Amino acid sequence: MKNLLQGVHHFQTQVFPAHRERFSELAQGQAPSTLFITCSDSRIDPSLLTQTAPGELFVLRNAGNLVPAPGWSEGGEAAAIEYAVEALGVRNVVVCGHLGCGALGGLLEPSSVAELPAVRRWLQQHGEETRYRIAQSRVADELPRFAVEENVRVQLERLARYPAVRRRLRSRKHPIELHGWVYDIGAGAVSLLGESGEFERLAA
Ligand SMILES: [Zn+2]
Repeated sequence: MKNLLQGVHHFQTQVFPAHRERFSELAQGQAPSTLFITCSDSRIDPSLLTQTAPGELFVLRNAGNLVPAPGWSEGGEAAAIEYAVEALGVRNVVVCGHLGCGALGGLLEPSSVAELPAVRRWLQQHGEETRYRIAQSRVADELPRFAVEENVRVQLERLARYPAVRRRLRSRKHPIELHGWVYDIGAGAVSLLGESGEFERLAA
């Protein structure tokens, strides 16, 4: 805990004073451009990865960057999505999966989460479509990457069915864009889902 408190001290004495005006503007309200949905994995830092400042990303995180089916009422995901899209009017939604995702590992190998009933239930409730699609696929060589990519596709399809998102997708005046990303932590690489339906690595 000590290192966290030292970090706060550093923030208060070194960082905050240099950006005092920006923080006082932020205190008046938020207008983020993007809803960024990613995994809770500690190795992902959305602001570091995208080099964005406080106030730019509205972040929703959970195990496996899963978007519950529209109408699902438990948990806070639907509320966060509705708030970002409807109330804050974000212009983009990014679903960012990552290689080496433990949640996806648990989905594909349920014995790895046998002792974690809440994780198992979460994956059963919201990961079944991904699991099924991966099981149906014939991609064996690159299964880990394919699984992460396919999981991102499933979440984007679900997102597009949320009433608030659907309205904004149809809106000419205030449209929204949905984006799929896969982050390779070890390589610092990001692949983007293209119109072809395939992921392509963003050139460094
Ligand atoms: Zn993960």
